[in-house]
Amino acid sequence: MSRTVFRNANLLDGDNPSRPNATIVVEGERITEVTSGAVAPRAGDTVVDLHGMTLMPGMVSGHYHAAYSVGGDKVPMGAPPTQLALYALANVQKALRAGYTSVVGAGTFHDVDGRLAEAIDSGVVTGPRLIPSSRALSPKVTEDEPAEGVPWVKCWGPDDFRDAAIREIERGAKIVKLFAAQGHAMRSCREMTYDELKAASDAAHARGARTRAHVCGAAQVMKCIEAGVDIIDHADWMDDEVIEALIAGNRFVLPSMYTPWLSSADPTSDGAEYYDKEDFEYMRAKVPVANARGVKFVPGDDFGFFDMAPHGDYSKELACYVEQVGISPLDAIRWATKFGGEMTGIPDLGTIEAGKLADMVIVDGDPSVDINILQDQARIIAVIKGGAVVSGALPVARRAMAAE
Ligand SMILES: [Zn+2]
Repeated sequence: MSRTVFRNANLLDGDNPSRPNATIVVEGERITEVTSGAVAPRAGDTVVDLHGMTLMPGMVSGHYHAAYSVGGDKVPMGAPPTQLALYALANVQKALRAGYTSVVGAGTFHDVDGRLAEAIDSGVVTGPRLIPSSRALSPKVTEDEPAEGVPWVKCWGPDDFRDAAIREIERGAKIVKLFAAQGHAMRSCREMTYDELKAASDAAHARGARTRAHVCGAAQVMKCIEAGVDIIDHADWMDDEVIEALIAGNRFVLPSMYTPWLSSADPTSDGAEYYDKEDFEYMRAKVPVANARGVKFVPGDDFGFFDMAPHGDYSKELACYVEQVGISPLDAIRWATKFGGEMTGIPDLGTIEAGKLADMVIVDGDPSVDINILQDQARIIAVIKGGAVVSGALPVARRAMAAE
């Protein structure tokens, strides 16, 4: 099999500080060699001189709503499934062009995520690796509350949550989304019981799927961890006990602080009334502490829901963590690559190392020096997924005519 040899790369491997003059060899869908030395090309190899441009892992947006296109004059939540699916395809392709080679669903409408993932995986359409979510399972406030009229699934009691989780998995979900407690833009939500959380999580785990919960409040997050919820969305008001439990339980946390930051900075923005400034300020102080202790944070926010955060703006969230929350650029990149890759559940994703899948981005400039570079589409030179260029183009490549 012919190889692609990337020379003179500024290597950001997803974990360590950048290394200049690196050589990375890709064969098929995998990275086969990473070295600071030279690699002699073989006849037929493609040689790409990056001239100091950065090669970094494809990024992961870990809280992703492909079917949300509800800001501005786009499509409402209640639009026909076909229309939502077409917009979802356009959305994931924006993610791919921005350097996000994987997205993890955080709630869909109908079965858009599952069907879209199927179309991407089979090569019918081009898109990032999509880990499909269920529709959100939302607790009824009273048993006789009507279940109709909303695009999520209303449930009452452990049996109902279990049955709904199973139905969603049968429709293609790999992750079951739960509305576990209010907070973080959710103004009213009955708190799910431990038994409800556990019933949904057990059902998911028995079928090779996982659960994720929208949850705020220390006691509420703790309850989710104890009930087996795999992914914690937001976790506003996490305390030290929660931090320890997140680390001990190897849970992923999506703080999603970009839309709260926008709301906090501009109270006139659409959606601002949904967020509380105190929540944001608490997390602004707490997330750096939790990060230093070793909590696995992953970026991802409600892009596509508010005008203020349209699809495509994903890397502005990384800049928010650096500039507003005090996270180092290297840590923010690690969240989006190493931790994000782990969170997908796909083995061998998230870092640039021999043996890993070749999901990579060529960037003009070093994002560990200036995180804002990632927002500039003109500087995302090429996006590579499983060894194939899926967006942009390689800098001038040449074919080795003979062994060099
Ligand atoms: Zn969300």
